[in-house]
Amino acid sequence: ISAPTDRITSICCIGAGYVGGPTCAVIAAKCPEIRITVVDRDPDRISAWNSDSLPVYEPGLDALVKRQRNTNLTFSTDIDRAIDQAQLIFIAVNTPPMPHTHGSSSMGAKPDLSAVSECARRIARVSLTDKIVVAKSTVPCGACATIAGMLRDNGQKGVGFSVLSNPEFLSEGTAVRDLLHPDRVLIGGDDRVAQDKLKAVYMHWVPEPRILTMNTWSSELAKLASNAMLAQRVSSINSISAVCEAVGADIAEVARGCGSDERIGQKFLRPSLGFGGSCFHKDIASLIWLSESLGLPEVAEYWHQVLALNRFQIKRFVARILADTSREGGLSGLGGRRVACLGFAFKEGTGDTRNTPAADVCCELLRNGAKLSIYDPRVPRHHIVDKLAMSAASNCDIDSVSVCSDAYSAIAGSDIVVVLTAWSEFRQIDWEQALKLMSQPAYVFDGQVVLDHGRLEQLGFNVFSIGRAHVT
Ligand code: NAD
Repeated sequence: ISAPTDRITSICCIGAGYVGGPTCAVIAAKCPEIRITVVDRDPDRISAWNSDSLPVYEPGLDALVKRQRNTNLTFSTDIDRAIDQAQLIFIAVNTPPMPHTHGSSSMGAKPDLSAVSECARRIARVSLTDKIVVAKSTVPCGACATIAGMLRDNGQKGVGFSVLSNPEFLSEGTAVRDLLHPDRVLIGGDDRVAQDKLKAVYMHWVPEPRILTMNTWSSELAKLASNAMLAQRVSSINSISAVCEAVGADIAEVARGCGSDERIGQKFLRPSLGFGGSCFHKDIASLIWLSESLGLPEVAEYWHQVLALNRFQIKRFVARILADTSREGGLSGLGGRRVACLGFAFKEGTGDTRNTPAADVCCELLRNGAKLSIYDPRVPRHHIVDKLAMSAASNCDIDSVSVCSDAYSAIAGSDIVVVLTAWSEFRQIDWEQALKLMSQPAYVFDGQVVLDHGRLEQLGFNVFSIGRAHVT
């Protein structure tokens, strides 16, 4: 590790999103001697980070940001000034998938690195002193080498740059906890001095054995592979949930039976409507694109199936709602029926709706003529409406959607309840009261396997839960 005078004392982070904001708040809290400026080209985002109502909801984040804002953490739109003053610059901008090539049947998609390139060119142009540039955004193999080339080609004479790969592994909903107690921190690069300087920052709170240095390509690929493997686990358990429903097995018992094998483990074995969020889809699409471009179609096809299974889970959930409610003595389909949708975020603990399975289910229900009453504890009303208006096909009637401020208001007057996000507060609902508020016969379709199904059946609900074929 370098001498104390060589230690990093000023950091700039470009990108004040779900990654940049929480990451820098934690670094600021753990490294009081480091001044951190988080910058963004979106002035509204920066004003929100400087306000009482932060642009990102994460448990524990509010208190952290509000405390550090008074000391060593600044949010600003003055990107050039922050770059100029920093020794180390994180690039934490978005890297969305490129739109699909027309006619392509592949689910692969090259990530759009234009925001990363823009940052690299800007850093090169503005920097008058040597900088360590750290790619925190998720990028495909080779991106750090491209960034290094851009810095070299566009930089001022005599100014040196070291580029490191330091992918982020936080999970939305538990970001602060993940950042405080990471399973591992990866620092990829070939400049040992720069790697050691970044390592010294993390060593303020991360135990040294958890900080892994490696070559750049390994670090870049480890991030894509980690997300792909986590998503694959979701698709694996969801594929088994379909078999459970067909044979009368119970997915909770099967998951316990599998997960008790130490080699498999219990984590990430909850059946669901599938994965959502901004990362899993795009990172698998990026891995598929990478595999295809490396001439590895079999590898691409393998990961393609993880995405295909994820779509299948939503398709069959909606098909199940249609089939069960159309049975004799039922509701004769969804036309004009009111469905209470509990949850809209892509997972519990966040207000993020990027790629949320809930939107896909809601659109399908609307297409089948249902009216929706939606409640999510963290997603603002206008986000729900905008999201549905955006993703709705032209034949989807957005006027049939109302957004409610609590679960009971959503349930009142509905024929069907569907659980779309695994918020723990849905377990606390008084279902006896809920039944009285609903039309009869009353249906519950639990897409996240969070409710006490035995109890609901006792009360008189018709219950379907993923991975557990049972409708009375
Ligand atoms: P985000 O969209 O929430 O934030 C990105 C921010 O970058 C935006 O505020 C945008 O205005 C800003 N930006 C874009 N281009 C810019 C530019 N040229 N100059 C200045 N600001 C610019 O994205 P995010 O969720 O924070 O993700 C950032 C990266 O981290 C992505 O590569 C993502 O794959 C990766 N990642 C995300 C998560 C997650 O859970 N969200 C977890 C791990 C890694």
